[in-house]
Amino acid sequence: MKINNPYEQTGIWLKGSFHNHTSNSDGWFPLETVYKMYGGYDFLGISDHDKITKHEGEREIPTVFEAIEVSSRQTHMLLVQPPHSIMENYGSEFTIENYQRFVDMTTDSGGFAVLVHPNRFFSNYWTLEDMLKMERYLGVEVYNGDGNPEYDIAFDKWDALLSAGRKVWGFGNDDSHVYGQEKQAWNMVQAAANTNEAIIDAICSGNFYVSTGYGFDAIKVEGNTVIADLRSNDLLDKMYKYVTFFGKDGRVLHESTGRIKQAAYTCKGDEGYVRIAVYLEGGYSAFSQPLFVTEEA
Ligand SMILES: [Zn+2]
Ligand SMILES: [Zn+2]
Repeated sequence: MKINNPYEQTGIWLKGSFHNHTSNSDGWFPLETVYKMYGGYDFLGISDHDKITKHEGEREIPTVFEAIEVSSRQTHMLLVQPPHSIMENYGSEFTIENYQRFVDMTTDSGGFAVLVHPNRFFSNYWTLEDMLKMERYLGVEVYNGDGNPEYDIAFDKWDALLSAGRKVWGFGNDDSHVYGQEKQAWNMVQAAANTNEAIIDAICSGNFYVSTGYGFDAIKVEGNTVIADLRSNDLLDKMYKYVTFFGKDGRVLHESTGRIKQAAYTCKGDEGYVRIAVYLEGGYSAFSQPLFVTEEA
């Protein structure tokens, strides 16, 4: 059995969101205010609709990413660190060909693409069929902080893609437009350094998890056992935790609850993948990337 652990490479944990708007599109606040709203973040992406907002002016956030949200009437897609050449003859209309071209251009120049808010059925969403037609995107926004519980989570589509054999990572972003939407959901990235290059390297290899307030200190594999070290300190150790290990088709493989610091699941070999969700009492959560499990002869 082989278990592919994206968290094997240790580094420093960095916090950030890639999908946020300014008044350069339909956000309420100019860039300088958005920088202040994200004080304390290690990195931040600005992704206005159909335009690349230039980073400028004073900011305390160490690392910033240029991004764009390709925004057809049907589907939205986030491109992080896209080449500026995508703006030549730019059109946001949704066809697989047009969107695939953006994914390819961005990926080929060292950035990455994420299909965002796939379950926002009241406006812009993705059908599973179209998600399966697209290739080379790095991930899916499984948690969007917009504030609609029925529409902002997409673990069902993520499990469907993973179960269909697609290797896509889960992202958490605020998609912030107004006050109150900031710092709801983010990515904790385990990178070698706080630079654009190191963060993208870590993201591409899946060395990050989605957080809404709780977290993992480490995710390890020993033999056939996946071990999650839950974020631990004297205060957190007194709190109750709910941990679930999910496999192919969203099947619940194992659950563990209590005032625990660690949870573990031993793989049988037929899981396809194992991903871990943990909730701290009060609702703060963290969601790991999948660890792919293959049965080797
Ligand atoms: Zn959108
Ligand atoms: Zn957006």
